[in-house]
Amino acid sequence: MKPLNFKKLQKKDLFVFDLDGTLIETKSPLEDDMSELITWLLKVKKVAIIGGGKYDIFQELFIRKLKCPRELLKNLFLFPTTATSFYRYNNGWKNVYAKLLTISEKNKIKKAFLDVFREMGYNHPKKTYGQIIEDRGTQVSFSVYGQDLVRVLGDKGVRIKKKWIKDKNNLKTKMKIARLMAKKLPNLKVVAAGFTTIDVTRRGIDKAYGIHQIQKHLRIPINNMFFIGDAIFPGGNDYAIVKTGVDYAAVKGPAETKKIILQIL
Ligand SMILES: [Mg+2]
Repeated sequence: MKPLNFKKLQKKDLFVFDLDGTLIETKSPLEDDMSELITWLLKVKKVAIIGGGKYDIFQELFIRKLKCPRELLKNLFLFPTTATSFYRYNNGWKNVYAKLLTISEKNKIKKAFLDVFREMGYNHPKKTYGQIIEDRGTQVSFSVYGQDLVRVLGDKGVRIKKKWIKDKNNLKTKMKIARLMAKKLPNLKVVAAGFTTIDVTRRGIDKAYGIHQIQKHLRIPINNMFFIGDAIFPGGNDYAIVKTGVDYAAVKGPAETKKIILQIL
């Protein structure tokens, strides 16, 4: 983590956080001390959260664990599935927009996954948890162990995912699946995200798109934003924000994110 310019940091109106690996441990519930810090932050700043996961995940892992007075929620903005949808609080969480894939696009993506698995002779792990190919409305996502691994196994599930991707052969397999998918779906975008996940979305959907959507819908200029994410490096799923010119801090995980929030406060 490079040193931050306090004055610059404290002048910003809007803090944009990646969710997975930044505010929460991967696919794990928000911790109490982070909830407290976010609450303090919402008293003085606006906060937007952007992540690849769908809205249900934002609700389950973040909103339900956030112990924050209701009147502060007007300062919190949720951008699930990489900002292809937007929710804001107004007597309950309300959807502002959702750019859904069509049924035919979704079917094409599912078929492409199945074809690629067959062509590669790819075998799924013996035990999987929940859906392996999940329809997230605005994207379709493959995950090696299924969507519910961490929900079912907790920390052990996180360890299983990290261990899987550390094996070079597994990494190669994942990248090959992504490459073959991209070949079959030239009009869509295939992203090898997270540890064990591959997302397929419309083209032009990345965190830079997210920053521009946030600018447009919250009417806050990019130079008044600050982004915090755990994957701001080439190949990482936060890296696209660099090209928007937004000021940012790269963190290794929630522990470093907490330090940055303390600096803002
Ligand atoms: Mg992340």
